[in-house]
Amino acid sequence: MLGDLLGAAKRAGWRACAEADARAKVGTPATQNAVLMYHSVGGREGNAGGRRLDEAAFRAQLAWLDTHYEFVDLPAALDAGSTPRVALTFDDGYRDFRSRALPILREFDAPATVFVIADRIGGRSDNGVPYLDAEDVAALAADDLVTVGNHTRTHPHLDRLDPDAVRAEVVDARAELEARVGRDVTRFCYPYGDCSPAVVDVVRESHDYATAGDGILAGPTDPHLIPRVDGSHPQAVVRWELTGAAERLRRAVRGEALSGQPET
Ligand SMILES: [Zn+2]
Repeated sequence: MLGDLLGAAKRAGWRACAEADARAKVGTPATQNAVLMYHSVGGREGNAGGRRLDEAAFRAQLAWLDTHYEFVDLPAALDAGSTPRVALTFDDGYRDFRSRALPILREFDAPATVFVIADRIGGRSDNGVPYLDAEDVAALAADDLVTVGNHTRTHPHLDRLDPDAVRAEVVDARAELEARVGRDVTRFCYPYGDCSPAVVDVVRESHDYATAGDGILAGPTDPHLIPRVDGSHPQAVVRWELTGAAERLRRAVRGEALSGQPET
């Protein structure tokens, strides 16, 4: 409870900082690569925990990104390019990824990774939001713009499970998804971003890439702990995150030493 309150206070503080920064146009243009995280886009049914972006806001965000970044597939975001690179990821495998987000991604020729929860395919979330069904997942796996990734079998907090249960959620889920899509599944997403060194070890030996935590790609990035920025926040917050200012503030809050130099 205290943690929740503290988190909410920090988020409110950062949002205020971001909005003031955007009004004053202090934020520097993006110079570093980033990976954006989304959940539901334009869904009319249910409520994906408030993490829903309507289609107009999503299209406007991609238009802004298109003028500052090169859209790349997730692995390429780990390498430097002549312009900053951005990769797009969608968690939980909501059905509106195919019906609403993908047509907009096509307008910008922007690749995306969709992280599917193996045992939820064809079902609905606790909030009533429909997940992709089996036909959707097969069609997306065959789409050149889309890569299907593993988001476990049941979306647990992996750091709370015993080793056998972790393997079932990580390794067995991968096998189930591969049987469905008929191709290798090499990307993983930790539910809630929760992991422990033991969990990361299991992911490291079974997948090539995994996303975890908040932030931009400042400096060398562990391919099994790729930080992301939540793209469903208000645009001022997203843009401010992408400048790296939010990451520096977070590190200061955590008491980590600041070099005074932006990370390169
Ligand atoms: Zn998730």
